[in-house]
Amino acid sequence: MDHKELMTEAVRLATESVENGWGGPFGAVITRDGEIVARGQNRVLLTGDPTAHAEIETIRKAVQVINPEAPSIAEEHQNESHLKYVPRPEGSPDPVAERARMLQGCSIYISGAPCPMCMSAIYWSRIGAVYFSRSLEDTRAIGFDDSFQYEDFGKPLEERRIEIKQIHPEIGARAYDAWTNKPDRHAY
Ligand SMILES: [Zn+2]
Repeated sequence: MDHKELMTEAVRLATESVENGWGGPFGAVITRDGEIVARGQNRVLLTGDPTAHAEIETIRKAVQVINPEAPSIAEEHQNESHLKYVPRPEGSPDPVAERARMLQGCSIYISGAPCPMCMSAIYWSRIGAVYFSRSLEDTRAIGFDDSFQYEDFGKPLEERRIEIKQIHPEIGARAYDAWTNKPDRHAY
């Protein structure tokens, strides 16, 4: 499938979400080698979940397709990982020798430019390319103001819209130490 066909599918999903009253006009597809791995659509109105964005839903579905062996919470699978790993590229400053492949090699097509939450999820998933149809300005014009969040991230903590400050770093260190001291930890 080419760019236009893939974007058309993302927009079909977005329109379906609107028509069914599930959420805003946002749909997404994740592809690998030009084929669709997963589809998703905004379902904030359907679920009441503010994180039910098309990109998040699509990433979660794609992960299930690409990593179907993920361990359950069953006792015998604890401390296991079924993530596929790839070595750090030559010359990389990454202190970790290998990282989980996640959705490396995949692309995402979205009806509108991603909000910061979804863009961050795209970074975490290691998706290599993002294609969007409508811009952040277009999204703001129809009443979804994602762009202020991008602006807020650029400000010092004390100037942000939401109170955010560091408290009791020594308490959090217990969990960080548990990670650092775990000999069989899987960096990802
Ligand atoms: Zn989003």
